[in-house]
Amino acid sequence: MSQPSSQLRDIPSIAQLLHHPSAQDLLRDYSPALAANALRAATDAVRDSILAGQAIQSNPEHIIDEARSSLQQGEKMQLRPVINATGILLHTNLGRAPMAQCAGEAAKQAAIHYTNLEFDCLAGIRGDRLDPIKSILRDITGAEDALVVNNNAAAVLLVLSSIAQGRDVIVSRGELVEIGGSFRIPDVMTQSGCMLKEVGTTNKTRLSDYEHAIGETTAALMKVHCSNYKMIGFTQSVGVKELTALAHKRGLPLIHDLGSGALLPLTPYGMPMEPTAKESLSHGADVVCFSADKLLGGPQAGIIIGKTKYLNAMRTHPLMRALRADKMTLAALEVTLKLYRDEALATCQIPLYRMLLEDIECLTKRAETFLALLHPRLQTLCSIVTSQAQLGGGSAPGEILPSIAVSLQPDHISLNQLYLRLIGCEYPVIARIHENSLLLDMRTLRDEELSLLTQSLTAALAHKEQA
Ligand SMILES: *Cc1c(COP(=O)(O)O)cnc(C)c1O
Repeated sequence: MSQPSSQLRDIPSIAQLLHHPSAQDLLRDYSPALAANALRAATDAVRDSILAGQAIQSNPEHIIDEARSSLQQGEKMQLRPVINATGILLHTNLGRAPMAQCAGEAAKQAAIHYTNLEFDCLAGIRGDRLDPIKSILRDITGAEDALVVNNNAAAVLLVLSSIAQGRDVIVSRGELVEIGGSFRIPDVMTQSGCMLKEVGTTNKTRLSDYEHAIGETTAALMKVHCSNYKMIGFTQSVGVKELTALAHKRGLPLIHDLGSGALLPLTPYGMPMEPTAKESLSHGADVVCFSADKLLGGPQAGIIIGKTKYLNAMRTHPLMRALRADKMTLAALEVTLKLYRDEALATCQIPLYRMLLEDIECLTKRAETFLALLHPRLQTLCSIVTSQAQLGGGSAPGEILPSIAVSLQPDHISLNQLYLRLIGCEYPVIARIHENSLLLDMRTLRDEELSLLTQSLTAALAHKEQA
């Protein structure tokens, strides 16, 4: 083998590489600057390997090939659509609720055009970006006033900062939730500059517990939805109605963090009772906040509704600017909220409701259609089984949605290997391993995705050896 110094000398220059015949298609597909950068990086890698004493190819074809594959890799969107076959409808890791087509289109139009975001086209003067949404939210929830921020965590932060800074807020010990990541009610309280006054016990809190805790420094009573857990057995908590009556008697507001933010009653969809935003207001809550990308089925946002007196303080709070939602979110949210003016429209256009409403027969048919698309050899590895889907996203914990899945038992690779290959596909598929099989739940899939799913599964089961 030749010496490193002579090997280094053999590395072609960038100019030589750019003039090499094999580089011509690179220059056709990419700009000269991008091509030169990729060639430089590939050349540097060769030089590093030689210096590290590794045997390496430094011929131009090899370097150009490396540059081409890194450019191709860089072209691929890292953030891209995936197929959710987990059966979890609101999967936070998978971006929660998929939006309605019309909402996605509205976000796109807002993104690529100028918009009247803060311009009142009727009066020709400066407008408020939240005005359109405010009037729709008032229509559909009966609220006096409404605001939108980036997500519900931001909403809680803004509500507490503007209402209770420097004073205390009374919350039941049974409702000091952690939502996941770093959102914990006690920590958000600290961040908002208010003091948490815990009352009651983990499993039982009575009205008198709140009553005894109210003092000179109390700013508000707060109720938090136990989104992602359920207490059963010897439990007691105080409802919004009773809490509001107490708060108002003492001249205090009641804040309700509704969490998942249902705008429609969910019981007709086979789900347990979730308080709706409208109910919370009609029970007297002064400020209600919730996420827009959970049960509402819209973009990531936090909605705050309630009394103008409190919302005005939020509007002028310095945090408002830091937490405000952008034009794409507001466009998608406006369209999504408009669907709720007609329940029939909302439930047929918002994907979440379609997923909730599909019956077992329809899911079975989807499973059969999928199986028919597979190669007969792969069909022998599959069976149609009953499965359990879940709402997810911190809604209806422990509640199961009956579902249908295609169960896979691969014959030459492990379940774990198949799972990993599916997520590594060109069109990633997120499945679920349950007992001794890999499940593809039909409830979170769309018929339009079946052919892509077939391609991904076929690819994942094809390469036998390179496990
Ligand atoms: C989900 C949730 C939050 C956080 O909402 P994000 O929109 O994820 O920021 C806060 N409080 C409750 C009760 C929740 O369920």
